[in-house]
Amino acid sequence: MTIQCPQCSTDYVRRAHREGVLERFASLVYIYPFRCQLCTRRFRVLQWGIRYAKQLVDRRQFERIPARVLVTFSGDRISGEGVVTNLSVRNCALQTATPLSEGALLQMRLQIWDRKPAVTIEQAAVRSVRPSSVGLQFIEFQGGESHRLGQFVSGLLGLPAFKSIPG
Ligand SMILES: [Zn+2]
Repeated sequence: MTIQCPQCSTDYVRRAHREGVLERFASLVYIYPFRCQLCTRRFRVLQWGIRYAKQLVDRRQFERIPARVLVTFSGDRISGEGVVTNLSVRNCALQTATPLSEGALLQMRLQIWDRKPAVTIEQAAVRSVRPSSVGLQFIEFQGGESHRLGQFVSGLLGLPAFKSIPG
């Protein structure tokens, strides 16, 4: 059974962690939450007779895909550049020589296509700092930038171009 996102109709979706009592009960009758990996919509699907082993449901909501994207960023008294080594539509790992600290807020510009303007992430938060890479969560996008990032991710996976979302 292929599960499709009701909003953008991709089948690149991921079983989401259950939230709250209602979803725990719902799973008893085979209704499970999913998260679209392109447009980020969360939705529930009836999967009659299917049981998930608890440990198979990753707490991470979005799967990161290996990539190599040049990025520039700036924030409060910080600016720099680096390379994104893997990403999803809501987070990424960044390699940079610029020291960043947990909790810092950055505007990021991802140069994902050669001849097109960079994808701008209006606000991203530094969530983890390791010697090898920095983990960032994307918090705010403007205009169609989130959709452009979704197109890039679906292209990395060789998925068909994903449907435009109204609004
Ligand atoms: Zn979707």
